[in-house]
Amino acid sequence: MNKKTIRDVEISGKKVFIRVDFNVPVRDGKVEDDTRVVAALPTINYAIEKGAKVILASHLGRPLKDKKKAEEKGITYDESKYSLKPVAVRLSELLHKEVLFAEDCIGEQARQKVSLMKAGDVLLLENLRFHAGEEKNDREFASKLAELAEIYVNDAFGAAHRAHASTAGITEFLQPAVAGFLMEKELDYLSKILNNPEKPFVAILGGAKVSDKIPVIESLISKGVDKILIGGAMAYTFFKAHGLTVGKSLVEDGMIPKALEIEKSAEKSGVKLILPTDHQVVDSYDPLHSRRVIPIEFTTAGLVGLDIGTETVAIFKRELEGARTIFWNGPMGMFEEKPFDEGTVSIAKAVAEATENGAVSVVGGGDSISALKQAGVADKISHVSTGGGATLEFLAGKKLPGVEALNDK
Ligand code: ADP
Ligand code: MG
Repeated sequence: MNKKTIRDVEISGKKVFIRVDFNVPVRDGKVEDDTRVVAALPTINYAIEKGAKVILASHLGRPLKDKKKAEEKGITYDESKYSLKPVAVRLSELLHKEVLFAEDCIGEQARQKVSLMKAGDVLLLENLRFHAGEEKNDREFASKLAELAEIYVNDAFGAAHRAHASTAGITEFLQPAVAGFLMEKELDYLSKILNNPEKPFVAILGGAKVSDKIPVIESLISKGVDKILIGGAMAYTFFKAHGLTVGKSLVEDGMIPKALEIEKSAEKSGVKLILPTDHQVVDSYDPLHSRRVIPIEFTTAGLVGLDIGTETVAIFKRELEGARTIFWNGPMGMFEEKPFDEGTVSIAKAVAEATENGAVSVVGGGDSISALKQAGVADKISHVSTGGGATLEFLAGKKLPGVEALNDK
């Protein structure tokens, strides 16, 4: 990686502002899934061990958007839903040490709490997005955040595709600005995939919307991926583009020309684009009793496709054999609903198996990660990327503002 990291700066005794991604699901005042908190621990523990004063900042959800909506609809808005306090409790358990908390990320209380910190103390600031200045990348708000510390560390890869005050603007006022370990790991894996993948390189793309994934598909094709396996609802836009009947399956009609264009450019670049040959369907009028696996060409008007079929699973598995690099984003079907998780779970297991056989595997996307967990193979993947949008934008070849803002090596 060509960016400086927390290893490259002297942090002992210094006030270090670490932008983390603690945007976790919270229910009834408890953290439901602490994956993102755990992912930030290496950087936090390192800073503690070095005797830094560790100031942590994150966003959680979109409180101001929710507030505006609630006001428009005349319903009550519960600000406490967006508090990072439950995260401080969970973090304290994970670190086995006290975590201080400031009820506002800027202002007198935050300043005072920081001034009382000793080497190795940890302070979590309240949700950055309680201030409109955060998402507006407001200079004044950024300078107020910067006032709290002497060194800036960004470990929030998941927020790096946004130019916000805590990910971009702050670096105008707070230097040095370096990457944390999670940021470094994400960039290392994803740059390798994009620029220097070991071949054969197989990408698996699925999920609901083609439009979300087009830039990634185009970028992977231009970078010389060997095969792209397409599953999930996304496949139906391609089938419809071929004039096949897709029944009531999800299609993005506006994306039909784009799907054809992608097929052409794949062909020109010698990239094998592989679509499902069969799928699990239900009759939309009798979804409970009509489930069956049929070839794609047998689809009729009333049917809706909800998962890839057994033959497709076998074909995709075969295509994954011998892969040295695998990138997967997007479930193969409506995996939240059993038994339409079968295709996705089988592919998750196949990716895990290919990894055991020596492939480097990277999986990104919120739903894809849930699917990995559902299949029980999350720990068998080389790298489970924590950034949804950031991962896709990076692989689409875009520059991430939160990365650009960091000091070069
Ligand atoms: P990720 O979060 O991993 O990037 P996406 O959000 O792009 O993945 O896609 C996941 C969603 O796609 C899931 O909600 C899943 O139910 C849906 N999906 C996948 N295949 C189908 C299908 N055939 N019909 C309807 N929904 C589907
Ligand atoms: Mg999703």
